[in-house]
Formats: sequence, C-alpha cells, structure tokens
Amino acid sequence: MKDRRNLVFLNLFFILFLFSSIPSFSLTEKKPLTVAESSNFTATSRYAEVTEFIRELQRQSSLIRVETLCWSTEGRAVPLLILGQPVPSSPHELKNDKRGIIYIQANIHAGEVEGKEASLMLARDILRDNNSRFLDKLVILIAPIFNADGNEKISPENRRNQVGPEKGVGVRYNGQSLDLNRDSMKMESPELQGLVQNVLMRWDPLLLVDCHTTNGAYHEEPITYSWSLNPNGDISIIEYMRERMLPFINAHLKENYNTLSIPYGYFMDFRNPEKGWRTFSPHPRFVTNYMGLRNRLAILDENYCYADYKIRVLGCYHFLLSILEYCHAHKDEIANLVSEADRKTIQRGLRPSEKDTFAVEFEIKPLKEPITVRGWEMKVFPREGGWPRIEKTDVKRVFTFPYYADFLPKRTVKFPHAYLLPDPIPEIKEKLLQHGVVLEKLTESVELEVESFRIKEIKGAERLYQGHRLNSVKGEYMVEQKEFPEGTIFISTAQQLGTLAAYLLEPESDDGLLVWNFFDRYLVTQWQGVPRTYPVYKLLKPVNIPREIRR
Ligand SMILES: [Zn+2]
Repeated sequence: MKDRRNLVFLNLFFILFLFSSIPSFSLTEKKPLTVAESSNFTATSRYAEVTEFIRELQRQSSLIRVETLCWSTEGRAVPLLILGQPVPSSPHELKNDKRGIIYIQANIHAGEVEGKEASLMLARDILRDNNSRFLDKLVILIAPIFNADGNEKISPENRRNQVGPEKGVGVRYNGQSLDLNRDSMKMESPELQGLVQNVLMRWDPLLLVDCHTTNGAYHEEPITYSWSLNPNGDISIIEYMRERMLPFINAHLKENYNTLSIPYGYFMDFRNPEKGWRTFSPHPRFVTNYMGLRNRLAILDENYCYADYKIRVLGCYHFLLSILEYCHAHKDEIANLVSEADRKTIQRGLRPSEKDTFAVEFEIKPLKEPITVRGWEMKVFPREGGWPRIEKTDVKRVFTFPYYADFLPKRTVKFPHAYLLPDPIPEIKEKLLQHGVVLEKLTESVELEVESFRIKEIKGAERLYQGHRLNSVKGEYMVEQKEFPEGTIFISTAQQLGTLAAYLLEPESDDGLLVWNFFDRYLVTQWQGVPRTYPVYKLLKPVNIPREIRR
C-alpha cells in the first residue's frame, strides 16, 4: 500500500515536472511575422495589423496579457503588452515579487516606425524563447503603437528625407495635432495621461525606453541614444546611465550584434565640425527627461534616418535586446539605485538645507571624455536668406571631439519643504493629481512665514507652440507672514515626486504650469492689468501644521 502511494506521488511529481517544462509557446505554431518582415522591409504595420499580430501572440502563448494604455482621440484602444512568467494579472501581484519592470514604448512620433516593428519582433521572440531568458527576473511592458492615430495617416509623402519604407509612414502628431514628446508636463493628450496613469503610476517601471528616428546629422552609426538630461533630477541616476549603463550597452551591442551606436547629437557647427557634438534640450516636456524627475531611468533611442529601413529596424531590435540583457543582469543594482533616489528625495523634502536648490536656468558643458563619431566630409552650399544646404561627400572622416551633454545649473532658487495653494484653482489641483503628486489640505487656518513671488512682468510668446503661447516671467521673491485658510492645498516635497512637484510649481521653472498657461487667468487683475503675486507660496522650513491627505 505504502509503495503504491509513493508511486502515485512520483507520478504526480512527474506530471508537475512535465507541466513546468512545457514551453509557453509551441514551436510547431507558425511564427507570426511583422509587416516589416513579411513585406521584405518595404512597409510598416497599420493599427489593425498590430492588433492582429498581438492577438496571434496571445493565442500562441500564455505569458502575455494586454491592457489598454488609453483611448486615442480618434477612438482607438492603445495596447499595452505585459510579458511575464507568470504574467501578472495586476501590479498588486508583484508586491512580494522581486521581478523588475521594464517599459518599452514605440511610435510616439508615428513617422518613426522602427521601434514599432522591432518591439513586436522582440515580444514574439521573448515569448518563443522556451528558456524565457528574461522573464525569470523581468516583467516587460511594451506599447508598440503609442501614437495610433498618427500611425493611421501612413503616406509615402511623410518623412521623405529618410531611407524607406517605400510604402510610407505615419505622421508626427497625435489626433489632437499635438507632439506627444512635448506633452509630459502639461499632459493634455490621452496618450500622456494614459502613460502616467496606466503605466507609470500603475506599474512603476524602473526604466522607460522611448523609440524614435533621427532627423539630422550624417554619420555611420545606425543607433544613437540619450539618458535623462535634467540636473534637477537625481544626479546619481544620470551618472549611472551616462557612465555605466549606456557605455556598457554600446560595447555589448557592437560585440554581440555587430551594431555601432553613439550618444545622440548633431554637429555644434557643421561648417566647423571638429568643434563638437551636442545633445538636445533638458526640458522635461520630453518623456525621457520627465522620467528623471520621477527618479526612474529612461533611454532615448534614436535610429539613424539615413540608414536603410531594414538596418534601422534590426538595429533597434538589437538595441532593445541589449538593454534587456543589461537590465536582466543588473536588475537589483537598478532597483536599489531607484529606491535610494526616492529615499534621498523624501529626506531632502523633510528638511531642506541651504545647499538644496532648484535650477531655473542651465548651461551646457562637455563631458569629461571626448566621443568618436564616424562621419563624412561635408560640402556646404550657402543659400541667400536661409540655412545653407549641406551635402555629404563620399570621403569618410572620423571625428573625436567634445560631447556637449552635461547640463549644469546656471541660476538656482531655494528648494522648499512645501508649496501652499490657498486659492481653489481646479486646473492646478487636477494637473498635480494627474501626475501622481500627493496633495494634502490644511484642517485649520494657520499663519505662516512663507516666500512669495511678486510678478513684475509676464509675456506670452508671439508664436503658438503646441496650442500655447508659452509664458516668460520676471519677478522677485519676498518673505511675508500670511494667513492660510482651512482647506489650503499643501504640497509636501517630502514625497517620491517632490522634484516633479517643484518643477510644476516653481514660478521661474522653465517647463512648469506657469509657462504652459495654466495660471494665466489667476495672474492679471481686471482693471489695471498689473500682474499680481503668483498664487503658490513656498514654505522653506518644516512647521507642524494640522493637515490631512486630500482625496
Ligand atoms: Zn521622434
């Protein structure tokens, strides 16, 4: 009897063993191909082809689940793929789970389609890999078609400067004619609201990768990349990405996939190229810079537009693969870096010192080490009253020159313990909550010594930009005693998003809510037209004030 029981147990174990080793993806199933692959790299996928491809992955594998990132303006559900073993049904399941979450986003500019094709190929190949070499340590989120509405305007007339796909690509803008990679701070699109609410706040990925295609300089390397650039973000995260993670990925990509990459940039002066290579702007309206203010890592992937379409797609695929390989090997290191950044942010907000400042103006400096770019001799043809025309010659030229990519504070203001908002300004409260900033309210009135900002001059830009006339402001800071009524909104900087809160609320912030016109109607008095005090007050030192979380 006992022997029989043992046999039953043995059989049970064997069955369990069999199940645990069953591949997630049957290799007898036909491997689904992306449109780039099946068209021999002459086309890119439409929305319906992307969703059909995803359905096929779901049919073939149990390690994928799909959520809706947002509904686009034109009514399309933007898919968010979740890959895991087991695949979590919600982030709550990961509470006691050590897996790290990585988020890959493509097609934010829907004329820049390599990431869409490459990330779909990547999802398929991860699911078909029976050893699932990433999924023991990582949960991978992929939004392959972030700007679905822009994608559906495919035409060979779009982005004619780039080399293929000959059947055309989508447009840069979303269904509201907004550039989604300028929307992170004002968050006016369903796509950015969905990104923040349904990806960043819901899943809290350690790293965001944003896939693009370049528009500029001529060079040989098919992949260019950047990290978060804004120095108001946690410096240890910036340095880690710039000095360890991305140089490693660069070398790994070359060694394992024979693919060259360089940091993103363009010639400081194409008439005099040896002057150096320069990156883009530190504004957090760019998604990858925005992530830095949330204490999370971000990589900008810019595929080189003059490389052949197939090289761009495969280059992007191998770049994404290399990023995952790095994250898989260094998951704990990245998780520790991020939680340490959160801890430091909260600590600073609790008791800001004189050294704690917020930068409102920046200067750019070269990094310590020069970089090498494989370019060509260029011919410059002057044009009357316009930019000169530049032509690449066939003569190769290797440049080793300074890389201007280190943004440093040029002018700073005091970093406070909290911001106070005594007037009910619904647009501001709503925007802060959309970003995930925790708001509290005073439960009784209190008199406090605060710093206020007296506006002397405010000007809206003449040119419209993303549906706005961006404000520039001048004024002075004053210390005053002020009575704050019960119900005043209290925004502590001792929270994970303390830096982001400061960026949104500081009066002289170069990408805050004042710049983006959210305060306009509260700034100008009706008759004399003289601007008044900015309605956000800075509490520099901690004071014990009765308050509660605002819901
Ligand atoms: Zn782009």
